Amino acid sequence: MESQVQPITIAGSIHIDYQWTAGIAGSRFFQELRDNARIMGTRCPKCGRVLVPPRIFCEECFVDAEEWVEVSSKGRLITFGETYLSTDGTLLDKPWILGIVKLDGADGGLIHYIGEANPEDLKIGMQMEAVFSEERQGNILDIKYFRPAR
Ligand SMILES: [Zn+2]
Repeated sequence: MESQVQPITIAGSIHIDYQWTAGIAGSRFFQELRDNARIMGTRCPKCGRVLVPPRIFCEECFVDAEEWVEVSSKGRLITFGETYLSTDGTLLDKPWILGIVKLDGADGGLIHYIGEANPEDLKIGMQMEAVFSEERQGNILDIKYFRPAR
């Protein structure tokens, strides 16, 4: 009679450094943020949506979306929330506020940090504005955070 083999697990960890391409649309998006502090999207020639974050293909119409358009750095707060844990699960001294801002002139929005505001100051639909980092490096943190528009 054969005995059942019970699985044995071995604890360990694997550290992996890696890089991946931001793609055609993502590379231009980050380059514009870094070099010009502009937020760019792409327009679908069929449905007219302005895609932000930009994509070179409209997933609704199945056509190329290669026309680049600058969108506003201001937009409406769609939703927000607070987190008390950082991305590695450690307790934060001060909670982060994260939100989705639908940018004016775009049909999409960005998930980002909300700054210069307390949760009780925020209302869904309120106008927000991007605050750009002084030293930009070509990533999403070139937008430091969104704050209530002044
Ligand atoms: Zn489309």
